[in-house]
Amino acid sequence: MIADFVKIHGLGKIQDLLTLEMELTQAGYTMDDLMDFVETKRRLLRKKEQIRTPSKVSGCGAQMLLYQVNTAPGNQTGDDSKHVWFCPVCLSQEFTPKTFNQIIKESISGDASKQAPREGE
Ligand SMILES: [Zn+2]
Repeated sequence: MIADFVKIHGLGKIQDLLTLEMELTQAGYTMDDLMDFVETKRRLLRKKEQIRTPSKVSGCGAQMLLYQVNTAPGNQTGDDSKHVWFCPVCLSQEFTPKTFNQIIKESISGDASKQAPREGE
């Protein structure tokens, strides 16, 4: 029943919704436009989330963590590594000279296995 729906959400909230829909219509948009926009925004946010947390699975199947190296006196590796993948379960380490941007790019395109950087990019 519509009365139950109104009761659950409260008359104030329903009024806000109606006002919002009226303003949306007056601005020349439909509810579908709004939903498309919100969905696109959500998708972008999800993508951003993925970008923030590149990931790699260790030989033991655990999620590896990414740390920067050679940025301070305490994390020198003696080579040109910029990052290290570290497994918190089996403690295995994998050093990489890749920048954070390169790692992100690979984690998005799913090309983490390709070692050689492509020319002309
Ligand atoms: Zn492991």
